[in-house]
Amino acid sequence: MADVDSSRIVFLGPPNSGKGTQAVRLAETLEIPPISTGEMLRQAVTDGSELGLRVEAVMNRGDLVSDELMAEVVRNRLARPDAEEGFLLDGYPRTLPQAATLDAILASRDVELHDVVLLDAPEEVLVARALGRGRKDDREAVVRERIRVYFEKTAPLVELYDERGLLRRVDGDHEMDRVERAILDSLEGGPT
Ligand code: AMP
Repeated sequence: MADVDSSRIVFLGPPNSGKGTQAVRLAETLEIPPISTGEMLRQAVTDGSELGLRVEAVMNRGDLVSDELMAEVVRNRLARPDAEEGFLLDGYPRTLPQAATLDAILASRDVELHDVVLLDAPEEVLVARALGRGRKDDREAVVRERIRVYFEKTAPLVELYDERGLLRRVDGDHEMDRVERAILDSLEGGPT
């Protein structure tokens, strides 16, 4: 049995792999907070907060916000009481330095990650999903840029977590219920 009382999980995957939806579902099942850095940043932009003003242009061109700024955002979020007993991080870490920052945050509390779920799908599926959805920043050039950035900056994390024995690969190119079951089956200790 997985220790569902203190699940610390990271979701990895290219944009539009279905990661956001699955992260929310899994977090609900495991009763841990889903923490989406993308959602946090979009909310900051909507609110017109100082953070929002700093990240809006970067986000709109499909690029990544700086590791330094993200470290601050994530450190503050994980310090909140609801994240004490576990969390599901969706969209962080996204670079090797961010992975090191997360390691440092967890080490300072003497806790560890349990699972890193990699949700994957072929590039054309990702692009088709993004354009179908038509979010403001999801025009094709930006979509392709986000995918390119994923392969350049984020894909190296797959190997890092695989070497640590934390990686759970899940095929995201299926309907949602099937993907959800596959994710649960992939977690340490099998189905919960
Ligand atoms: P997402 O919804 O996770 O695809 O995030 C939307 C956008 O927010 C990304 O394209 C980035 O510009 C920014 N973002 C979210 N998480 C991070 C992160 N961990 N590092 C840098 N930028 C991020």
